[in-house]
Amino acid sequence: MKITHQKAARYTRWAVLAMSTVFFLFFSGFISVHAVCPIGGFEMFFAGIFRTGFTIAGLFSGMVLTFLIMSVVSIIFRRAYCAYICPLGALQELSENIGKKVLPAKIRDAKMPGKLDAVLRWGKYVVLALFIILGGTIGGHWMIKGDPFIVMMGLFSGNPITEQFQRNPSSFLFLIGILVFAFFMGRGFCKYICPAGAWYGLLSKISPNKIRRDVDTCVGCNLCSKACPADIDVANLEVVNSAECFGCRECVNVCPKEGALSAPVAKVDVNQVAVPVAAAMIFAGSVGLAASVMPSKGGSYHGGKPDSAQVEDADTVSGADQADSGAPVSGGCAVCIACGLCGAV
Ligand code: SF4
Ligand code: SF4
Ligand code: SF4
Repeated sequence: MKITHQKAARYTRWAVLAMSTVFFLFFSGFISVHAVCPIGGFEMFFAGIFRTGFTIAGLFSGMVLTFLIMSVVSIIFRRAYCAYICPLGALQELSENIGKKVLPAKIRDAKMPGKLDAVLRWGKYVVLALFIILGGTIGGHWMIKGDPFIVMMGLFSGNPITEQFQRNPSSFLFLIGILVFAFFMGRGFCKYICPAGAWYGLLSKISPNKIRRDVDTCVGCNLCSKACPADIDVANLEVVNSAECFGCRECVNVCPKEGALSAPVAKVDVNQVAVPVAAAMIFAGSVGLAASVMPSKGGSYHGGKPDSAQVEDADTVSGADQADSGAPVSGGCAVCIACGLCGAV
């Protein structure tokens, strides 16, 4: 079987997404999930701006670092985090694809009514505004009881699932709801709720990377629109520069007519296999940097085990949350930057 460049690009995207998802699912087995949680990075970024001011430690707390680096990437390659890295995006797409295989056509082709869909898509900007406002008022890791990422990344942490459920039932049920919805109607959390996706989407509006359709070459087969996980009607647009576009290039990679769709950065054609690989390498680099400043599980820290003096400020100003076990839960207060030092002592 001949593997075309388009197929290679699709396989590479799925391979990168799969590796990223496995990494996220097992990440918490050896380092704090706070190093990579995109929701946490978001919360801490705005809490840092409005409440604590940015210290070097705050800026280099793992979650803010990966968030900032992926923000820059989304200016260059649109929502590359959503397209190639995000495990929750990947699991929703997986659930959607399973649904497409097993559901009867009538159900699997059902779409959210157009007007309702358009209204609901504003939801993620409302959540984004809440993040900014609450970052400035409550601060800290305020969404921890409704954060599906935290639950997902803790699944294989070694703690019994029942115990994890008891500790954070709302986030657990939210995650299950997201995946059930995706089974029937695709990436609902991404389209309607996720503040990180809203943020990356707004940044992607200034990206020089756009999907372009050559109307003279296009044969109107509609395959691009059908393949789009963001439900964008690519077949009827000349340029896709919507904040909804993940930049996944699925549309380009299913187009049967050579030259009808392209995804240049500025006017430069980019190798479609290289984009997911580059995004993954940049993300891996940012996680490596984050890990170098985060404490690992079990108490070791990049600069040696921290002594109590290093966490004295955090303890006294924050009164960090205590889990039932008595262990501190980083990010439970207004000024905590979720560096995780307290947990490593
Ligand atoms: S919108 Fe949110 S959940 Fe969806 S892929 Fe992007 S970051 Fe992940
Ligand atoms: S328009 Fe193309 S690149 Fe954008 S989300 Fe849809 S399929 Fe992906
Ligand atoms: S898949 Fe290609 S040929 Fe078909 S409608 Fe889309 S751009 Fe046109």
